[in-house]
Amino acid sequence: MKFEDLGLSQPILQALDLKNYTAPTPIQEQAIPTVLEGRDLLGIAQTGTGKTAAFMLPSIDRLSAGEHGAPAKSCRMLVLAPTRELAGQIAESARDYGALSGLTVASVVGGTSVGKDRQKLSRGVDILVATPGRLIDLIDQRVLTLRAVEILVLDEADQMLDLGFIHALRKIVDLLPEGRQTLLFSATMPKQIKDLAAKYLRNPAHVSVAPQSTTAERVEQFVTFVNQPEKQALLTLMLQKGFASGDMDLVLVFTRTKHGADRVVKKLGQAGIRANAIHGNKSQPQRERALDEFRRGKVKIMVATDIAARGIDIPGVSHVFNFELPNVAEQYVHRIGRTARAGREGMAISLCAPDERDYLRDIQRLTKVTLTKVPLPSGFRAVVEEEEERTRSAPQERAPRGGRDGQRGGGNRGPRREGGQGGQGRGGQRNNARGGKPNPNRRRDGEGEGRSEGQPRRVEATPRGNSQKPSPHARGRTGRQPR
Ligand code: AMP
Repeated sequence: MKFEDLGLSQPILQALDLKNYTAPTPIQEQAIPTVLEGRDLLGIAQTGTGKTAAFMLPSIDRLSAGEHGAPAKSCRMLVLAPTRELAGQIAESARDYGALSGLTVASVVGGTSVGKDRQKLSRGVDILVATPGRLIDLIDQRVLTLRAVEILVLDEADQMLDLGFIHALRKIVDLLPEGRQTLLFSATMPKQIKDLAAKYLRNPAHVSVAPQSTTAERVEQFVTFVNQPEKQALLTLMLQKGFASGDMDLVLVFTRTKHGADRVVKKLGQAGIRANAIHGNKSQPQRERALDEFRRGKVKIMVATDIAARGIDIPGVSHVFNFELPNVAEQYVHRIGRTARAGREGMAISLCAPDERDYLRDIQRLTKVTLTKVPLPSGFRAVVEEEEERTRSAPQERAPRGGRDGQRGGGNRGPRREGGQGGQGRGGQRNNARGGKPNPNRRRDGEGEGRSEGQPRRVEATPRGNSQKPSPHARGRTGRQPR
């Protein structure tokens, strides 16, 4: 199938040529003709499948065919996304795809100046990409009205619900004209999404690719068993080896907590390895800089929490490390979906502590993949001892107040969530013990990584590495479980 066969206009086809897209992806093949017809659509697809173009290309065509531009302080297409990063990427794609169509594009997200948003919107804009919290603020402040919206896109709807945006979504949709076209994309189809679709979509076409539990075949998946306190040394060593051998290109490291992400960056820095952290406590400029440096390969390692990384689309990610296993198995699928994008191969390496084995079991059950066990690499003991020595001679770090620090905190508490909007991925919904209404005073956009605390950290005898065993960065070789 070619893009030409889908009924897209010349300016779009030329823009796709400039992007070097040769053929549509399956979701694009399914969605584009339907959206061009003006039908509502319910799409089950994760990021990485090409879903942004699937809704953006036909929408641009439809908007271009219209006779009127956007009135002042309004937009013709509204795309709602759960995080600032995703909103930024969608807006960027819209600019690329619509480069020759003459449409205006803007994005409005939390953490930036409302004054600037006011300017952007004063004369109206064709395509507006927004996070729900900021959009409501702008409507409340009469910077924007939604009366001219012709197309509504709810992107990553499951994630928006997990982040507690349901009230915001209802409020926004109630302000939209009845006759609009609505496109809803979600990686999963829980009951809440079905209900949302039933309420807001009219006779929608259904399209679906890659069910949630499927991990990309091109991702090789490994697990190494290691005690929690020794994970840092292991990560450092694996990164040193991976970059020295030229196997690693861009590396994404996932932690479950913001503190954890900062600490990994700090410890890597102490070992002479540059990395950036991206999580909900970082300011918008800090996040943008981190993403930009990562994308350009200036800083090749990014340490992220789940929410901050969701939707991030950086094609050159060769390795994903799970420094801590996610406590919700679906999150694993999202994490490793950050690699092996745009037809490339990728590698996912999970560092599994003894008390994370249940999480590993859940992941393997969900994905129906048994992760290849890889023993601790050669030289690991020496690195651990060096690290211990460094820690002994360094001034003691003070534990964060209230024992929040999962890495340090003892006790058998298990993962815990804080913060009303909290929830990394789907777990946020289930574990949001406080339930109830989100606190409107909290900053919401992209701030979903409620401080999921670390897991209980029992120290067990260190598994000994075998110097003959392969490492996960030796592609294609597999190893035996190290005990
Ligand atoms: P998405 O699922 O929208 O996040 O897109 C994932 C990645 O695939 C992005 O880097 C897109 O630029 C890229 N992409 C989307 N459609 C195509 C296509 N037809 N051919 C090649 N790359 C594509």
